[in-house]
Amino acid sequence: MFQAWLLDKASGTFQAELREIDESRLPPGDVLVQVLHSTINYKDALALTHRAPVVRNWPMVPGIDGAGIVLESRHAAWKPGDRWILNGWGVGETHWGCLAERASLRGDWLVPVPARFDTRQAMIIGTAGYTAMLCVQAIAAHDLRPEHGEVLVTGATGGVGSIAVALLARRGWKVVAVSGKPEREDYLRALGAAEVLPRQSLSEPGKPLQKERWAAVVDTAGSHILANACAQTRWGGVVAACGLAQGMDFPASVAPFILRNVTLAGIDSVMQPLGARRAAWAALADELDASQLEAVAHDIRLDQALEAAQALMAGRVSGRTVVNI
Ligand code: NDP
Repeated sequence: MFQAWLLDKASGTFQAELREIDESRLPPGDVLVQVLHSTINYKDALALTHRAPVVRNWPMVPGIDGAGIVLESRHAAWKPGDRWILNGWGVGETHWGCLAERASLRGDWLVPVPARFDTRQAMIIGTAGYTAMLCVQAIAAHDLRPEHGEVLVTGATGGVGSIAVALLARRGWKVVAVSGKPEREDYLRALGAAEVLPRQSLSEPGKPLQKERWAAVVDTAGSHILANACAQTRWGGVVAACGLAQGMDFPASVAPFILRNVTLAGIDSVMQPLGARRAAWAALADELDASQLEAVAHDIRLDQALEAAQALMAGRVSGRTVVNI
């Protein structure tokens, strides 16, 4: 038996419960793992609170992220005792996930924990941090560098935002953070933000082209914030769009793309091939130090996951929530 959160609709209404589950109920997989740490990403919070249709098979064990130790393996790349990280691949959506003591996963999905990190540090980063690195790499892939100007990070106190601020500041960028939490300005400055703008400065409908300011943008918000960020991006800039915290819509015009050569770079962490994941994790290990990770982390137990998800949905969480399993 193992403990896991189980999301179900069998009774006709949605239920999220911490349950004892028999190992024989685990889905097929070629690697049986012990999950030592997981985390509460935005998507996990949506699943646990049933605020959006993240879960596509019922019943479901949520948890799109995990890190731990291999217990049994029929996959050539993995053996008992190996330390693994799992991010995405539909785990916690269509395949039982990592808010659980055990998981049955596919070896092809797993990335080794970089030597510099323990499994808790890997989950401080989690999908949020790995996505932040994909955004930073998308900006760098367009040969944009700190000398080209300022970089904007939206939803800055969130998981993706916090780690994006830290990574970009460490690469030498002047980071301007947008946040709806004015009381967290010190937190953002400690991570490396040079300036903090109120969320309202970007969240209302704006003109299709505005005064040019950003050399690059990491956007976690979508909707008007993304539209305004594009409208303020300088000629030749890149906007890496990964999130929808304000909304799924994109009320914008093509003007920034056709008149200012702006590139809108879509970022999806879930289906990234293994090579890109390994490269992102290697860069995270090179560029984030333990003190930066501790600055964004707060720890909970497995039984507190639902409460933490509700707090995240209510906008009461900054940084990264690590679940100690
Ligand atoms: P968090 O909940 O940790 O952070 C989201 C942040 O967005 C909040 O902290 C808040 O920051 C800001 N925010 C909240 N509500 C609103 C609103 N109504 N309008 C504008 N901003 C708002 O989530 P994550 O960092 O884990 O994820 C951020 C986004 O990125 C989510 O939409 C998530 O689904 C997406 N995502 C996408 C991935 C991909 O592969 N494409 C992978 C990971 C995440 P503040 O108060 O500082 O403004």
